Amino acid sequence: MALGVEGGGSGVDSSVAMKRLLLLGAGHAHLAVLAALARRRIPGAEAVLVSPNEHFIYSGRVPGLIGGRFDESECSIDIASLAAAAGVSFLRGRAAAIDAEARCVTLADGQRIDCDVLSLDTGGTQDRDRLPGARDNALFLRPMEGFVELWQRTLALAAERELDVVVIGNGAAGFEIALAVRRALAARCSVSLVSDGELLPGHGPAVRRRALDALHFSGVQLLPGRCTAIEPWHVRLGTLRVACDVPIVAVGSDAPSWLAGSALALDEQGFVRIGATLQSASHPNVFAAGDVSVRDDRPHPRSGVYAVRAGPVLAANLRRFIVGAPLKPYLPQRRSLYLLSTGDGRAIASWGAFSAEGRWAGRWKDRIDGAFLARYSDFDQGSKK
Ligand SMILES: Cc1cc2nc3c(=O)[nH]c(=O)nc-3n(C[C@H](O)[C@H](O)[C@H](O)COP(=O)(O)OP(=O)(O)OC[C@H]3O[C@@H](n4cnc5c(N)ncnc54)[C@H](O)[C@@H]3O)c2cc1C
Repeated sequence: MALGVEGGGSGVDSSVAMKRLLLLGAGHAHLAVLAALARRRIPGAEAVLVSPNEHFIYSGRVPGLIGGRFDESECSIDIASLAAAAGVSFLRGRAAAIDAEARCVTLADGQRIDCDVLSLDTGGTQDRDRLPGARDNALFLRPMEGFVELWQRTLALAAERELDVVVIGNGAAGFEIALAVRRALAARCSVSLVSDGELLPGHGPAVRRRALDALHFSGVQLLPGRCTAIEPWHVRLGTLRVACDVPIVAVGSDAPSWLAGSALALDEQGFVRIGATLQSASHPNVFAAGDVSVRDDRPHPRSGVYAVRAGPVLAANLRRFIVGAPLKPYLPQRRSLYLLSTGDGRAIASWGAFSAEGRWAGRWKDRIDGAFLARYSDFDQGSKK
């Protein structure tokens, strides 16, 4: 088939009859694919990576970055260098549409990229219109790069005056971010966490008790209720108006809207339906991993742990699909360990009904996160062909 990039120069040679593998998004699973390609190329294939950023910000360290425990260099991976080491063409851009039938992806700037095999690891998004007023008045955790940049501006503002910060979201991200924000700001600023329903759903009661204690001891006010609107200088919880200079939306992982119309099989929320081999339920030449996907056979929570574990299987299956070998299944674990950072170097460990906490758990989390980041640093460019 014709291998072409239209509407802009990507530096990809369109005349060579090779199979083109298009990697969309440099999420956790694609990092493993890049590392595998850096170790060993796929014969007869050229690969292109499309990513809006040259650096990947690792979410597990974002609370530590917000709380001032880490700087940005300790939380990010140089994906452009990793792609270069893997012999993968790096194209800065953002997917805006997929036509799975035509095997073509259109980027936000209008470029069209043909491919033979497509792999999606673009993560989830946050719907700006999920909460009335949020689009104009709130900070969103995703995309992470934008959040980190806006947080720096918030910090500068907090140095000048008192701020009321309200974090909206009762999940792990909202909990960790509220504690990190509390740690970063002076005592004259207030930090609240809006929790619609019980805190940390999916975790055991003992974890919840520890989490409530952590909020209490650090001075984060818990506001039970559903946020119904975000207005300038206020957050609305039904009839209650809470003063707020900086609302942070930490709810939801929504499916990217550009998947609609792709012809790919999607679930009712718009996520890409995949099977055990990480192939699309409708198009075997399309693979997906991480938060953008949903397993038909073994649904699991959306968390980085699953995206990370899917990575090596995705790498193996992309290679096997291209060379015509049988594919391997990815068996997600039934439950996983969560280490919830409390912002002070400590963490709460959560494993099913088991929970524990302490500085040791914080050190454990730091070690796991550090090892993950180290895995994708310092690749020797071009030496592993
Ligand atoms: C504050 C916070 C802390 C978290 N902590 C943890 C934790 O400690 N442990 C854990 O397991 N989970 C954690 N999570 C959840 C975790 O971040 C996600 O589950 C995980 O990032 C999903 O990985 P992914 O590979 O699917 O996508 P992502 O990590 O989101 O990566 C997707 C990549 O695709 C790119 N992209 C997005 N849109 C496009 C597009 N249109 N075109 C091209 N590229 C695109 C993005 O720039 C990004 O680099 C946390 C989440 C948050 C918000």
